[in-house]
Amino acid sequence: MSVAELQELERDYAIPTYARNPVEFVRGLGCRLWDDAGNEYLDFLAGISVLNVGHCHPRVVEAVRDQVGRLTHATNLFYTEPGMRLCQRLASSSLGGKVFLTNSGTEAIEAAIKLVRRARPGGTVLVVQDAFHGRTYGALSATPQESKQAPFAPLVPGFVVVPKDPDALERAVDEQTAAVLLEPIQGESGINVLSDELLVAARQACDRTGAALVFDEIQTGMGRTGSLWAYEQTPVVPDALTTAKALGGGLPIGALVTGDRLADTFETGDHGSTFAGGPVIASAALVALDICSDQDLLASVRTLGERLAAGLGQLSYVDRVRGRGLMLAIDIAPEISAPALARRALLEQRLVVNATGPATIRLEPPLIVGEDEIDEAVRRLGALAE
Ligand code: PLP
Repeated sequence: MSVAELQELERDYAIPTYARNPVEFVRGLGCRLWDDAGNEYLDFLAGISVLNVGHCHPRVVEAVRDQVGRLTHATNLFYTEPGMRLCQRLASSSLGGKVFLTNSGTEAIEAAIKLVRRARPGGTVLVVQDAFHGRTYGALSATPQESKQAPFAPLVPGFVVVPKDPDALERAVDEQTAAVLLEPIQGESGINVLSDELLVAARQACDRTGAALVFDEIQTGMGRTGSLWAYEQTPVVPDALTTAKALGGGLPIGALVTGDRLADTFETGDHGSTFAGGPVIASAALVALDICSDQDLLASVRTLGERLAAGLGQLSYVDRVRGRGLMLAIDIAPEISAPALARRALLEQRLVVNATGPATIRLEPPLIVGEDEIDEAVRRLGALAE
């Protein structure tokens, strides 16, 4: 089917919540995508930080093929090995507690909100200005963005928004606070790195009051910033974290991971999901986690991130480069529209990036990207200035 035909189907049958670009992708491999006419694209978005291992990683494909032909689903009324092993791997690779598997990022946030309320009944959840935690009601209530929240009021009560100011955050946390929930690097609002001072203030306030510190690592995790989890490059260890996006190597899965303190908060029947942790997806996630934990890969994320940031900084229309590892954004000159530039990058240069706002472009390539591809992406972005 042509893009025009797909647009017709979309117009007649798809609820119009997405602003899609006029490109149909039919194949992906590594950092490359191909459209229906056979044109090749360089992917510097990775499905919004989902394809950290690259498109169709052979080990992910093999694990899925192997499992899908044996058993696709059993429900959580029974045991399957991949899901249990994934819980073990996730816990031992991070906070050492226990894991609840979900199907998406927003569901991991829902699980986290329920968990911290279970630990402190009736407690409030503090979230940081500009945060994004998802689209379901709890996660949306934790996402203080007028345009996303206002049409859907009333929201879930008990969420408090704090500015990115360590003193204000310290003051806002009290004995009624169930949790401080934050992204160590805010992704959807434009790759804003929260300061170490803010994170330390959050940790100290939680320690003082017994509130839980929860890091949303849905976008920052799985090696994106040059360590398996972003918290490893901060002075702070959270009490729980959420992951999703890249966890499934391209397939949908999320997880809530706790440290020791919150590991036994939920009791049987407190939470559940029909599909979560199924054997196919968990098999893919075990492979993705293995690949993203590799120390050589993580070191290369750090050096290639520096190379990409340096290249971006040389572009004539770039005002500022932000981020860590391969989680980067550029602020561009005010006379240029970032959404229009991202669209030109796609259609004229066959480079996939996206705009997170009117003046910001986000770059999150697969972590298996090479030096040549980094340089090529910078060259293609540079060509847009000509
Ligand atoms: N939290 C963060 C930090 C995210 O970046 C996202 C998605 O962009 C979510 C939560 C929601 O994840 P999902 O789209 O899988 O529901």
